[in-house]
Amino acid sequence: MRIGVIGAGIAGIATAIRLAAKGHEVTVFEANTYPGGKLSAFDLEGYRFDAGPSLFTMPHYVDELFRECGEDPAQHFRYARVDTVCHYFWPDGTQLNAWADKTKFAAEAEQVLGVPAEKVIRFLERSERKYDLAGKIFLEKSLHQTSTWLRRSVAKAMLYLPFFDIFSSMHQTHQRAFRRWPKMVQLFDRFATYNGSNPYKASGMLTIIPHFEHNIGVFYPESGMHSITTGLYELSLRKGVKYHFNTRVSSIETQGNRISGLKTASGENFVFDRVVSNMDVYFTYKNLLPGHPHPERILRQPKSTSALIFYWGIKEATKLGLHNIFFSNDYRHEFDQMEQGKVTTDPTVYINITSKLTPSDVPEPGHENWFVMVNAPFNNGQDWDAMIPEIRKNVIRKLSEILSVPVEKLIACEAVLEPRTIESRTASHLGALYGYSSNNTMAAFLRHPNFSRSIEGLYFVGGSVHPGGGIPLCLLSAKITSSMAG
Ligand code: FAD
Repeated sequence: MRIGVIGAGIAGIATAIRLAAKGHEVTVFEANTYPGGKLSAFDLEGYRFDAGPSLFTMPHYVDELFRECGEDPAQHFRYARVDTVCHYFWPDGTQLNAWADKTKFAAEAEQVLGVPAEKVIRFLERSERKYDLAGKIFLEKSLHQTSTWLRRSVAKAMLYLPFFDIFSSMHQTHQRAFRRWPKMVQLFDRFATYNGSNPYKASGMLTIIPHFEHNIGVFYPESGMHSITTGLYELSLRKGVKYHFNTRVSSIETQGNRISGLKTASGENFVFDRVVSNMDVYFTYKNLLPGHPHPERILRQPKSTSALIFYWGIKEATKLGLHNIFFSNDYRHEFDQMEQGKVTTDPTVYINITSKLTPSDVPEPGHENWFVMVNAPFNNGQDWDAMIPEIRKNVIRKLSEILSVPVEKLIACEAVLEPRTIESRTASHLGALYGYSSNNTMAAFLRHPNFSRSIEGLYFVGGSVHPGGGIPLCLLSAKITSSMAG
């Protein structure tokens, strides 16, 4: 079959690989001049930065793509498990090293925060059990096919419904486990941001997320996150996938209720038996399918959060690690502010420094490349030009205080990514990082399916559709979609 894929984001590339491995003729159309979408990189005055994702979990989903094509992943894409998942800092001076080793992490939590180690271990074991019983089924299968619901594993999961904490929020679930240790609650609450959600609203089912990081591990790809894109892009070329870069698709063409092809902005027509859209589902309907019925209820679901990122070349070595989090004093206020489209004056700040593991990412020894991220609301027309300098000032003040270094003076060069540019660079509706949020119990069921109910031969893949955003879920989305489309 001839299959057209709109978008060379990580989910589009992974879908193209799987479909080409099945023998289909696959052509990808990408509006940008480069592959990867959000998972891209850039250089600034000798500093290399991963532009988007910085945290790599579930690497076996990448390996699986090489194996699917009969290749040994280790020959093409190498990565290692990191020793420390994250360095945490609190405004009162408390610091905690979240070791990858579960037992060491629990011991550190006991020593620094006073939480009994066995409580931490028990919580992580519960998180693993939830994932094994339910997470796997609902993330690896379509929720919109009857066959998923007829599986024995689903019936078994239903028996355990109360165990999943579905009807409590993530925060309530953490409160129940760690009521006397608010810093531990805050530490686990922050996992809601892994899919752009609010811990005070997202379902307790999302307490499966720490399992990915603390039980399975955090990994670092040799030469940075961008090598996930380059490794998979090169694999797709070896499988014969064709790419048209700098080529925006302007419409999806149909005959009756069947796909017939697509049209590019320069007016070229391409005939396809099937089309897979890796473009944000909202814009796929609004821009490429204007004359067709739109699933308005799904498209109206609340968006995930966005982010504000400062990429700083830093001309001094610091004691920071690969992943660092500087918590706010009042986490609930931070999320309340975000719900109102604002960023608090004391935001939680995340810093990723790849030069800690890849020294060639900086122009000379003793320098660092800081990816400084603050959670931000999606773009609803706020005055970002006024907000960004204010947030920058607050971030610099906070980091300078906690680290006791004059951060402003260490910045050699700077680039900024914000909700408006996230939207314009990857056509992500309102600049949301992860498509739709998971801020209600039914969110998983209100994501768009991986296929069209009204147009035969049209499929959807990526962060804005089932099972959701983030690299691992995008790769699972590609697995589900390609099993339907080819
Ligand atoms: P995208 O990467 O958005 O790709 C869609 C592609 O479609 C784009 O290349 C776009 O140009 C193209 N396109 C759109 N419209 C058209 C058109 N009309 N014609 C042709 N092409 C078109 N995830 C993690 O797992 N870990 C993290 O640490 C993490 N951190 C993040 C930090 C930031 C700052 C951002 C922005 C995201 C982060 N994410 C993280 C989320 C992750 O990047 C995304 O969920 C994932 O990369 C989305 O991939 P995708 O293939 O669905 O879409």
